[in-house]
Amino acid sequence: MDLKGKKVLVVGLGKTGVALVRFLSDMGACVSVTDKRPADELGTGLKEIEGCVEAVELGCHRVETFLRSDLIVLSPGVPSDIGPIREAERRGVEVMGELDLVSPFLRAPVIAVTGTNGKTTTTTLLGEVFSRAGKEVWVGGNIGRPLVDLLLEGAVPDYVICEVSSFQLERVRAFRPFIGIVLNISENHLDRHGSILEYGRIKFRLFANQGPGDYAIVNGDDPLVSSLSTGLPSRVITFSSTRTLERGIWLNGKGVIFSDRGLMERYDLDGLTLRGRHNLENVMAVIGAAGICGLERDAVVDGIRGFRGLAHRIEFVREWRGVRFYNDSKATNPGAVERALESMDRKVILLLGGRDKGVDYSSLNRAMKGKVRVVVLFGESRKRIRESLDPSWDIREAHGLDDAFSIACREARPGEAVLLSPACSSFDAFGSYEERGNRFKELVGALR
Ligand code: ADP
Repeated sequence: MDLKGKKVLVVGLGKTGVALVRFLSDMGACVSVTDKRPADELGTGLKEIEGCVEAVELGCHRVETFLRSDLIVLSPGVPSDIGPIREAERRGVEVMGELDLVSPFLRAPVIAVTGTNGKTTTTTLLGEVFSRAGKEVWVGGNIGRPLVDLLLEGAVPDYVICEVSSFQLERVRAFRPFIGIVLNISENHLDRHGSILEYGRIKFRLFANQGPGDYAIVNGDDPLVSSLSTGLPSRVITFSSTRTLERGIWLNGKGVIFSDRGLMERYDLDGLTLRGRHNLENVMAVIGAAGICGLERDAVVDGIRGFRGLAHRIEFVREWRGVRFYNDSKATNPGAVERALESMDRKVILLLGGRDKGVDYSSLNRAMKGKVRVVVLFGESRKRIRESLDPSWDIREAHGLDDAFSIACREARPGEAVLLSPACSSFDAFGSYEERGNRFKELVGALR
């Protein structure tokens, strides 16, 4: 892709936007940038692009700015159906996202991970396992640093391991991972994607540009993932935590079997510290990628056994008067909460609530059965969640997280667990899920 002298407009000046501007400028493009936010909400972004841009438009998006460009590059958070983008496309201006911009410049095979839940855990674990097996990896994408940073750094690793969100996949036309992984699809972001089927189709854009030499690792236990997996252009490797397969990846006692093209390997996972069936699924996906890339089995096993999981994902915080406290603040949709409950081996006081993303919470009723004794609802979404829950549950309502926490502490009995697994985003009261999780941990730490 020749960018020299091209008039390129970057939409959105977050972390990715800044990196895009710098890369495009390095490539000799005439770069402009537009962000709907005013300058005082942009943090250090403006400073970081000094000397790289010809024009900056803040606080609005003017159609003329879009129409004047040869190419428009969208940051991941920008909805691709806003008026000026549509108008520019209608008039023949090329519009693309970060993944397509980066694709032609990538010099290493990409392993890309998507799904409603488990992306960050799986991407991180892939990084650990591949490193342990002696491979040089670059880990990024929707996690830590944007993919375009790889190009800015000029890195040429053995593998690029990349977390990809549905927002990034929405308009992918060129991005072609050597291995694509779809972990699961459950309701999330319906405020942006409309229906779950549409959301699923967007996730499957991950495989759209693959060929027969590439691989698709998919969850064979997830009905929507399975139904979307027929007719893919790449070699499909299925994993299942519920059955033995003819080929693919499945559980075998305390181990996992990977079998493909006449090869069969067993990975012994006795002593695994990650909890829950969902994490076994993440591990199976990692083993699939490791098997395809021919990594040494013992190194893979060591990498997986040594992985303790990430903060804010069913993170054990402390035991206090016989009550165990778990921080699962990253559970921002019901699917993640279901898995957290499934992994609990004691009765739970469940803290649910935050900002609603338009999803259906009624699936929680089944997941809570036999596990949850008291539900404490908090935040903006509490009324909507209450309407979805069976009235026979012991439900309490609190204004914010602090109040909800106090109620939970009063209710919890020795031998039980207090689980913050909110099913909602944190933005009604916090800047991020990390802030929410840290506040929870602070409250737990202060218990005397
Ligand atoms: P993502 O990056 O997709 O948000 P994370 O690894 O950060 O995924 O985990 C987010 C939430 O989903 C956490 O609550 C975690 O416990 C849960 N989770 C992790 N892996 C899975 C999985 N395979 N299926 C369902 N839930 C999962």
